[in-house]
Amino acid sequence: MHKPHAALLSSPGLGHIIPVIELGKILALHYNFKVTILAVTSQTSQAESHVLKSAISSVNICDFLEIPPADLSGLLENEAAIVERLCVVMRETKVAVRSAISNMAHRPSVLIVDIFGSECLSVAQEFGMLKYIYVASNAWFFSLLLYSPILDKLVQGQFVDQKEALEIPGCSPVRPEDVVDPMLDRNNRQYQEYIGMGTGVVKGDGILVNTWEQLQHRDLQSLRDENLLGGMLKVPVYAIGPLVRAPEPPTSSTVELLGWLDQQPSESVVYVSFGSGGTLSYEQTVEVACGLELSQFRFVWVVRPPNGGRADSAFFSTGDGRGRENDDVSNYLPEGFKERTHKVGKLVPRWAAQATILRHPSVGGFVSHCGWSSVLEGITNGVPMICWPLYAEQRMNATLLAEELKVGVKPKVLPAKKVVGREEIARMLRHIMEGKPNPIRERARELKESAAMAMKIGGSSFTALDDVARQCKASGHHLLWAN
Ligand code: UDP
Repeated sequence: MHKPHAALLSSPGLGHIIPVIELGKILALHYNFKVTILAVTSQTSQAESHVLKSAISSVNICDFLEIPPADLSGLLENEAAIVERLCVVMRETKVAVRSAISNMAHRPSVLIVDIFGSECLSVAQEFGMLKYIYVASNAWFFSLLLYSPILDKLVQGQFVDQKEALEIPGCSPVRPEDVVDPMLDRNNRQYQEYIGMGTGVVKGDGILVNTWEQLQHRDLQSLRDENLLGGMLKVPVYAIGPLVRAPEPPTSSTVELLGWLDQQPSESVVYVSFGSGGTLSYEQTVEVACGLELSQFRFVWVVRPPNGGRADSAFFSTGDGRGRENDDVSNYLPEGFKERTHKVGKLVPRWAAQATILRHPSVGGFVSHCGWSSVLEGITNGVPMICWPLYAEQRMNATLLAEELKVGVKPKVLPAKKVVGREEIARMLRHIMEGKPNPIRERARELKESAAMAMKIGGSSFTALDDVARQCKASGHHLLWAN
């Protein structure tokens, strides 16, 4: 008797591969599935390749199949935006995904794809497999994606120029300035790809979302209510999160950093990181340095050389997080900054063991770009956040955290300079780090508790995952006969 076999497909990018690996681990470990992770890689990001290699060597409960992206020459312009790039990569890689699945001796009974992989659901359809979309972000973001083909018809002109917030049935409205990147310019090719994704996500047998009932009850209800968004979706929605990254085996530099953290007072250190792909301008990098210095708080800062005008410039880049070229911080940090702050601050070039650092009891604040995995890592460790969105759906995430969940604050941008100034950074840091009790920290603790409850035996996410696993197992029996 075979174990049930699930194939999980992730699109390029760490924000996609990491949550897929975590879901795979749960299915293998808790539900005794055979799991094959099909990872479509960008082949340019060394951070991605590092994460994948370390997963392949340490996560021995899953099988990994790296799928290089198809040859895209002639299909994409150099300047193509991320969503267009990802959609084209996944569309063109469908043939390779089909052949990988069709060559498996023990054919999987389930295919789980991230939102960029919905084109590959037809492969599952062809092979009679159960098919799920895994939203590695939150339910509010997914509601906007699902509703965007309707907004496309309802709204005239650019979304960012609208006077009123965009209404989504049963959910909080989305402010025009908070819309996801591909909705910023309807003339950009990524906009049409995004609308296509909104149409494609209804083709699964169910939707798995990396959130939990108590966190996003209202959005989840709308996605299930046939008079609201559920009428468009018509398939079950399972809130199965928070699935967060387990700490990696520490490298020597991480051990050194943890040793330093051990010596700092409880909740006294601010962790500053803009995710796997985020970079700041030169002017903004200088303001962050000066703001940290002005605030006098202890810090760990994952530093990257300034970008050439694109906040997402490290997403498909060759920077690897181990620290290589251009990593001499004196090239871009204020003169003497490193020397003046060396007792209170640690600079980590490009990539840090974030999941490990955020768990440390000395860490008491998180300056985050609000990528959803980072948000969940902050919440599950009860760390209040400065919500500093850069790209993708991060502006929505920041608004959700600061205004609805109240576990963070959003800094004000100086309009003339388009940067967050040093005084504002220091002010925001005081806001989340000082005061006993501090309401934002208290709220972060509450959400940490709520997240833990959802994942406990009998908790909402535990039960939802149980349901999914049961259905997958049932469909596996039928497939065994077909094989
Ligand atoms: N990450 C990390 N070290 C870094 C930067 C990022 O370990 O220096 C991990 C982080 O813990 C998270 C993922 O990379 O799990 C980033 O995903 P997220 O959704 O936060 O943002 P993205 O990078 O996709 O914008």
